[in-house]
Amino acid sequence: MLEADRIADTLALDEPVGRVRMVSPGRAKALDAMGIRTVRDLVTHVPRRHLDLTNVQTAASCPLGQLCTVVGVVHKAQLKRPRPRLALVEITLVDATGTLMVTMFQQPWLMDKLEQGMRIAVSGKVEFNYGFKRMTNPFLEVLEPDQDAQGRVIAVHPATEKLSATMVRRLVGNALEACAGLLDPLPIALRTRYRLMSRMTALRCLHFAHNMDEVREAKRRLAYEEVLLLELALMTEGLKRTAGRRPCAHVVDGPALRALDAAVPFTLTAEQQKAREEILSRLAAPEAANHLLLGDVGTGKTVVAAYALAAAADTGGQAMLMAPTEVLARQHGKTLGPLLDAANVSWAVLTGSTPAAERDAIQAGLADGSLSVLVGTHALLEDDVAPKRLTLAVIDEQQRFGVDQRARLLDKGEAPDALYLTATPIPRSLALAVYGNLTLSYLKARPNRGAVRTTHLHRKADRGRAYDAAKEALKRGEQVYVVCPLIEEAPEKKDAKRSGGLQDDDAYAFDRVVIESDEDFAGADVSAATKQAAYLQSTVFADWDVALLHGRMKPAEKQEVMDRFARNESQVLVATTVIEVGVDVPNATVMIVEDADRFGLSQLHQLRGRVGRGALDAQVHLVAATKDAEALKRLSALERTDDGFELAEFDLSLRREGDILGNRQHGASALKLVNIVRDRNVIEAAHRDAEDLLARDPMLDQPEHRALAREMRLLFSSAADIQGG
Ligand code: ADP
Ligand code: MG
Repeated sequence: MLEADRIADTLALDEPVGRVRMVSPGRAKALDAMGIRTVRDLVTHVPRRHLDLTNVQTAASCPLGQLCTVVGVVHKAQLKRPRPRLALVEITLVDATGTLMVTMFQQPWLMDKLEQGMRIAVSGKVEFNYGFKRMTNPFLEVLEPDQDAQGRVIAVHPATEKLSATMVRRLVGNALEACAGLLDPLPIALRTRYRLMSRMTALRCLHFAHNMDEVREAKRRLAYEEVLLLELALMTEGLKRTAGRRPCAHVVDGPALRALDAAVPFTLTAEQQKAREEILSRLAAPEAANHLLLGDVGTGKTVVAAYALAAAADTGGQAMLMAPTEVLARQHGKTLGPLLDAANVSWAVLTGSTPAAERDAIQAGLADGSLSVLVGTHALLEDDVAPKRLTLAVIDEQQRFGVDQRARLLDKGEAPDALYLTATPIPRSLALAVYGNLTLSYLKARPNRGAVRTTHLHRKADRGRAYDAAKEALKRGEQVYVVCPLIEEAPEKKDAKRSGGLQDDDAYAFDRVVIESDEDFAGADVSAATKQAAYLQSTVFADWDVALLHGRMKPAEKQEVMDRFARNESQVLVATTVIEVGVDVPNATVMIVEDADRFGLSQLHQLRGRVGRGALDAQVHLVAATKDAEALKRLSALERTDDGFELAEFDLSLRREGDILGNRQHGASALKLVNIVRDRNVIEAAHRDAEDLLARDPMLDQPEHRALAREMRLLFSSAADIQGG
C-alpha cells in the first residue's frame, strides 16, 4: 500500500464518533459529555482499570486486606439511607464457597441495574466487618449471561449514567474495527529499539487484552508515544520562538562579572556554583537559552541570576528582571543594587508606582543603551519600555506569570536568552513533560546559616500545643504566622460525587487550595479568616497585636499590613495563603497552619519556607482537621524531610501533576497514560529521542517522520495547549 493511502486510512481516526457502528445521535451526545468527539477520542478512551478475571478468587479464599476480584451471583441488593444525604447500596454476593458483602456508597442508581440472580464481578480490597467479608466501593462489573468471564481481562472504561461501561466497551470495539490498517506514526527504529507493540496492537490490547501483561505492554507503548509527541510539540514550539532571529552569544568572563564575583559577600555553595556555570554556558552559546533555575525559597537563586545580569552588561547588551510583585521587585533592587554598583553596571527599578520623571529617565536610558539592567514588575511589559538591545530576560517566580506575559517580555529583544527562576519544586521528569524545550539547574540545599526548622503535626484537638509554642516565641519577642486556608471545592471532587464516588485509580482528589495568585481567591469566602483573627486576638493572643491579611484586600492595604508586620508593630499575622512569595521577616519564627490536610505537601512546603529564614530557630505546626490515617501519614512526610523535591514527588505519586502546577493548562495535563513519577524513565527516554529526531530532521519532513509530525500537530494544535503555566 502506498504511504499516502495509509496516511489517508488513519484519517478514520479523526472522523466524528457518530461514524462508529451503534453510535446513535443519543449515544454520541453522551460520549460528547465525556469529551469524546472523534473516533480517536474513543479508541484512546483509557480504561479506568482492568478487571483481571484470569485470577479470580472465591468468597472463601480471598485474603483480607488485599485487592481481589471475586465473581458471584447477586443474592440481594438493598438501598439504605442511614442519614438524609447518605445513600448506600448493600449487595449480598454469593458463590459456591460463601458470601461476600459489598457496600456501594452514593450510587443509588445501581438499584436499577442490579437484579437478583445476576452474575457480577467485583474488584477491591477485602475487609472483615460485622461478621462478614466485605468490600467497600469496589469496581463492579455486571457480566453478560453468555460471557465467559473466567480467564479474561475486562477493561472498565469511564462511563456515565447514560452510557454504561459495558456499552462504552462495545463502542470502543466497534471503533477499533473501523480503523483497522492504522498507520503507526512511530518510526520503526524507535519501535524496535524499545520493542514496542504497533499502535493498533496496543490499542487492541488496551481495551481487549487476554492477560495483564498485554495491558502493561500496551500502556508502555502508548505512554511512550504520548510523551514523545508532547516533547516534539514543546521543542518545535520553542524553536519557532527564535526562528530567523539572531540570538546573542554572551561574554561570560568580562570585567563586570569578575567585579561582581569579588563583591558577593559570601561564598557560593557548590550547587550555586554549578548552576552559575550551567547558566553562563547557556548564555555563551549562540542559541537562545531557555533555562529554568529551580530552588526552594531561600536557596539563593537571586545571586546566581546576578551573574547572568553582569554577563549581559559585559556583552554590551541589556537585561531585564521581572518579579511578580512590587515588594519583590524592590527587594531585588535592594540586594542586587550594591552588587551591580560594585560591578559598575548601571541599573534601575521600574514599577507601577515609579514617579513620572524617574520613569522618563529610565525609558531614555533603556532606549539609548546607557541603562544595562532594569528590575521591575509587570510595568516592564508596557509598550514604552523599549530597550535598545535586550539580550537577557530573567523572570523571577515564573509560575506566577502567564505565557503571554513571558512572551511579551522576550519580544522586547531580537532573540534574548531567557532565564526563569522558580520556587515550585518541579521534579525533573515533570519539568521535561511540561517544558520540553528547557534546560534546568537545581538548587536543593539552602546555604547553611545555622538556624534549624522543625515541623510538628497535631490533631485539631491538640492545637493548644501549637498555640503554646507560638506564645513561647512571642514572649521571646519573636513573631508568628497563622495560615487559614480559604477553601474552594476541587472540581474533580464535585464530579466524583456526581458520578457516584467512582474515581480514577490514582486520582487523589481533595479540596484544592490555590496559592498561586490572588485571582484564584475571587470566589472564596474571607469570613473564616476574619473570624479566626478576631477569635485569636480576643483569646489566645490577647496580649499581642493580631493582624489579618487576605486575598481580597487591595494591594495598598496588603502592603500596609505586611509593612506593619515587618516593623513588628503587629506580632501575629493571620493570613489566607496569600502571604507573598518571598516575603522575608526573619523575626517570624513560628507558623501555624490550620486545616493543613487541605493542602498539598508541596504547598505546605512552600508555605513553611516563610519561617526559618533568619538566624533564629523556627517551628512549623500543622494542625490537621482530619482523622483519616492516610491523610495524616501523608502530612507526616513533612515532619521527616525538608527536601521540597522529595515531597513534590511524593505528592505526585498520590495526586495529579495539575495540583503542583496550579490549575492552569499545560502540556502534562494532556498526558492520559503517563504518570510523572512512575514513568520517569519513559519521559527521560522520550525527551532524548525527541531531541535526537529534531537534531536530524528539524522540520520532521523526512518521509519516515511525516506521520509523526502530523500526529503531533493534531494532538497539540495550538501553542496555548502546551506551554507551561
Ligand atoms: P530565593 O532562592 O528564595 O530567591 P534568595 O536569593 O532571596 O533566595 O536568597 C535567600 C537569602 O540567602 C538571601 O538573604 C541571600 O543573601 C542569602 N544567600 C544566598 N546565597 C548564599 C550563600 N551562598 N551563603 C550565604 N547566604 C546566601
Ligand atoms: Mg527569590
